Amino acid sequence: VRIHFAPCHDGSGQVAGGVGIVEDITERKKVEREHARLFREAQEAVRVREDFLTIASHELKTPLTPLSLRLANLERRLERGEPVDPSSLRHARQHLLRLTSLINDLLDASRIESGGLALQPQPTRLDLLTEHVIHVTEGLYEAGHRILFHAPATPLQVLGDPYRLEQVIANLLENALKYSPDGGTIHVSLEPRGDTALLSVSDPGIGIPADQQEHLFERYFRARNVSPRSYGGLGLGLYICRDIVARHGGRIWVESEVDRGSTFYVALPTLPSAQAQPEQASSHT
Ligand code: ADP
Repeated sequence: VRIHFAPCHDGSGQVAGGVGIVEDITERKKVEREHARLFREAQEAVRVREDFLTIASHELKTPLTPLSLRLANLERRLERGEPVDPSSLRHARQHLLRLTSLINDLLDASRIESGGLALQPQPTRLDLLTEHVIHVTEGLYEAGHRILFHAPATPLQVLGDPYRLEQVIANLLENALKYSPDGGTIHVSLEPRGDTALLSVSDPGIGIPADQQEHLFERYFRARNVSPRSYGGLGLGLYICRDIVARHGGRIWVESEVDRGSTFYVALPTLPSAQAQPEQASSHT
C-alpha cells in the first residue's frame, strides 16, 4: 500500500488536523511489472533479430569467397590443359550445397511464418528413407565420423511427405556431425513404439546446456556454447524440423549433457499395416 498524508492548518498556521489517503497499489505494481517484462522481451527479440542478420550475412558470404577462388583456379587449369584435382571440385560442390541449404532454410522459415509449408503426404517407408539419408550424408562429409544405423526388424510406414521427412532426418544427422567435432560414432536408431515410430539420433558431441534446451526449437536460437566462428549456422534447422514433425502429428525432443553428447528423438504416428503399401525411399536431394 502507499499512504499519502496532508496536514490541515487553522487560521493561526497551527496544524489542526490532517487528511490521510491509503492507496492500494498492488494492481498498479502488477501492471508495471508486466510492462517491464514485455519491454525486456521486446528488447531480447530485437537483439536476437539483429544477431541473426549479422550471422546470416556472414554465413551467406562465407562460402562465396572459397567457391569463386576454386572456380577461378579450375578455369585457369583447364585453359592451360593442366590436370584438375577432383577434391577441388568436391570442395566447390560442398560450398555450393552449404549455400543452397542456407537459402532453403531461409525460404522455409519464411514459408512457415506466412502460413506453413505445403506438404504432400503419402505412405512412406521410414526405415528406407532413413537408410537413404544416411547413405547421402556419408557421401557428403569427410571421413572421421562413423554412422551406425540400428534398423527396425520390420518395415515402418508413416503417412508423410517424404521430402520433408528426409529434411528432418538429414538436419538431425548433419547437426550430430557438426557438433561432434572430434569424430566418434553417431547412432541412428528406428523402432516401433506402440502406434508410433521412434527415431533417435545420438552423438558424442559438445551437448547443450540444460537451461537452453527448452529454447532449442525456437526460430534463430543458437545455444551459448556454439560461437559463430567455430560452428556456422542460422538457428533455423530445428525450428523447421519442429514445424514439419508437428504437422505430421508427431513430436520432437532432445536429451543432452554438455561435453557428453545429445540424443534427438522424433516420434511419428505409424500407418496401420492394412493401409501400408510398399514405398520407395525418396530420391529428393
Ligand atoms: P544451427 O545448427 O544452424 O545453429 P539448428 O536449429 O539446427 O541451427 O540448431 C539450433 C541450435 O541447437 C544450434 O545452434 C546448437 O546450439 C544446438 N544444437 C543442435 N543440434 C545439436 C547437437 N547435435 N549437439 C549440440 N548442440 C546442438
